Amino acid sequence: MTLVVEGCAIATMDDACTEFAEGHIVIEGDRITAVGPRATPAESPGTRIDGRGCLATPGLVNCHHHLYQWITRGLAQQSSLFEWLVELYPIWSRIDVELEHAAAKAALAALTLSGCSTSTDHHYVFPGGAGDLLHVEIEAAREIGLRFHACRGSMDLGRSRGGLPPDEVVEDLDSILAATEAAIDRYNDASPDAMLRIAVAPCSPFSVSADLMRESAALARRRGVRLHTHLAETPEEEAFCRERFGCTPAEYVDELGWLADDVWLAHCVNLAPAAVARFAATATGVAHCPSSNARLGAGIAPVADLLASGVAVGLGVDGAASNESGQLLTEVRQALLFARLRGGPAALTARQALAMGTIEGARCLGRQAELGSLEAGKLADLALWRVDGLGHADVTDPVAALVLGPPAPLELLLVGGRPLVRAGALQTGSEPEIAREARRAHRRLMERVEAVP
Ligand SMILES: [Zn+2]
Repeated sequence: MTLVVEGCAIATMDDACTEFAEGHIVIEGDRITAVGPRATPAESPGTRIDGRGCLATPGLVNCHHHLYQWITRGLAQQSSLFEWLVELYPIWSRIDVELEHAAAKAALAALTLSGCSTSTDHHYVFPGGAGDLLHVEIEAAREIGLRFHACRGSMDLGRSRGGLPPDEVVEDLDSILAATEAAIDRYNDASPDAMLRIAVAPCSPFSVSADLMRESAALARRRGVRLHTHLAETPEEEAFCRERFGCTPAEYVDELGWLADDVWLAHCVNLAPAAVARFAATATGVAHCPSSNARLGAGIAPVADLLASGVAVGLGVDGAASNESGQLLTEVRQALLFARLRGGPAALTARQALAMGTIEGARCLGRQAELGSLEAGKLADLALWRVDGLGHADVTDPVAALVLGPPAPLELLLVGGRPLVRAGALQTGSEPEIAREARRAHRRLMERVEAVP
């Protein structure tokens, strides 16, 4: 089946930053076969999509999330990261497969409606008896139709051993490694057009032992999958690492073999210049989560320095308990604004911000050869944004309109050529029903928490 999108402006986000004021994109099956200026000849075959008034970009890539947090939004509103975690861990310890599915479905629907075509999830809370939480979020991603990288998270450093989380939400090292390897066996698809991959993802320096970090890296490298964790998110984390390990978070993970080209790290707000250089030298990726960092008052990551050093910096919404919006397009705008608050008006361009949401994110996930730009041969993951309405029509540059303007209406979102969104409406689920299920799951979770004496 051939699809032709034409009449739209196109920001391909390829290496040469090719753009067309008016162009066409031809899609056959799940691949792009041509991208170019003007319309295709009238006699060419295929279903035509009228892109006039729109800007086509690659589908956005979300590099960090915790889907289950969708049903714990709006809590701990004035807290720092550690205060927020301490308040939320006991609530999260009461999730189960039913609640996880409802939360994941809602979070993924929100992402999809914001132009995201590939998402990761970092799930690290596995309470005993909760059921197969990883499986239900993978099911939710299949139902919504997103390309999905499930990061099998973990925590093994409970409070009794000097960690932050209560002991009832941590697992032991052997069970974690066995469950993670089982997830790779069951789900990981290494093929270039994969809809589902697994990454190995212990949670953070203050919730995970050094042994688990080392063993996780060994497992991931033995199985050829990627590594993900949180790093250098707050000053409190830096103080924790200095006290416990006598070094910064970046130095700590470097010693454990965690600065490498198969690793991408969430946040990285507190990085000294030496750490930025080390990230560049090792080709370690970063998932920048500006809204979450602002919500928790954590600080602003040195994104311009990282990009200038050649580090792949993608974007993440982070869990919805610290970013109630959960939308990815808004993170593109936040990334630009925050970089400029830190480094002045020339710190980040609109195109660099859009690159972070697309090709840079694909680099973080090791998928830049097949995702993240609109080029012949790449997967047909494409967002078509309407830029001819009140919010955008008179902005002189469509990329600036998309990045600096209000969230643009999403005319079409394709994942592997399959439409997940048309004219702003989710095609793979009922938005009101998903919202109803999420509300019900939120209430049930809160009732469980209140029932605890
Ligand atoms: Zn996170």
